[in-house]
Amino acid sequence: MHKINVAVDGHSSCGKSTIAKALAKKLSYFYVDSGAMYRAVTLFALQHKLIDEIEVNQEELLLMLSKIKIHFEMVKGVQHAFLNDVDVEKEIRSLNVSDHVSQVAKIKEVRAFLVKQQKKLGEEKGVVMDGRDIGTVVFPGAEVKFFVTANLDVRAQRRFNEMKSKGFNDVSLADIKRNLEERDFVDSHREVSPLIRASDAILLDTSHMSQEEQLAFAY
Ligand code: C5P
Repeated sequence: MHKINVAVDGHSSCGKSTIAKALAKKLSYFYVDSGAMYRAVTLFALQHKLIDEIEVNQEELLLMLSKIKIHFEMVKGVQHAFLNDVDVEKEIRSLNVSDHVSQVAKIKEVRAFLVKQQKKLGEEKGVVMDGRDIGTVVFPGAEVKFFVTANLDVRAQRRFNEMKSKGFNDVSLADIKRNLEERDFVDSHREVSPLIRASDAILLDTSHMSQEEQLAFAY
């Protein structure tokens, strides 16, 4: 059957990845979590002490970009991100990575490095990719685009529940809410490919929708 690419963009923790994963499963398409790629670069920068409290050592990070290899693999039926062949699926979801990822993601060269790989993944079509610039930059020609949002309190509570279920027990709801607000602000105001709704993207507000309702809408 004729394959297409599907772009799912939107705010942090609005349910994008749940929708994108469910759609990919239903269509037997490949799911790509582009946020995981920005998170992996951020983890690499933290591991190499290239980020202090306020700043990313951009110059050093750019010199080391070519040493960063990211791929995805299924582990017990769940897609995991690998950084230089190490499974980093859990570490990249930590609040520490979340607190720095938007600063790393606004660096032009980091975006170019990852967008190139993301475009390649979509060359053969049959991909559902979620992120912030998929419908605008990575797959501007995607046949179907969604822009997902939800109100901040709903998103914070969902992320809080998700983090607890993944064993991050020392995070507070207030910290998560602050992180989401900060990321939304930086992601929407950066110079290079800011988070905006593509003019041809279908708007989906998941504030009052169950996961089943979200999938039924998207499919
Ligand atoms: O999707 P997720 O919340 O895991 O993304 C983490 C961060 O990665 C975002 O807050 C954003 O800074 C960055 N990102 C991006 N462009 C994408 C995907 C994620 O800038 N396509």
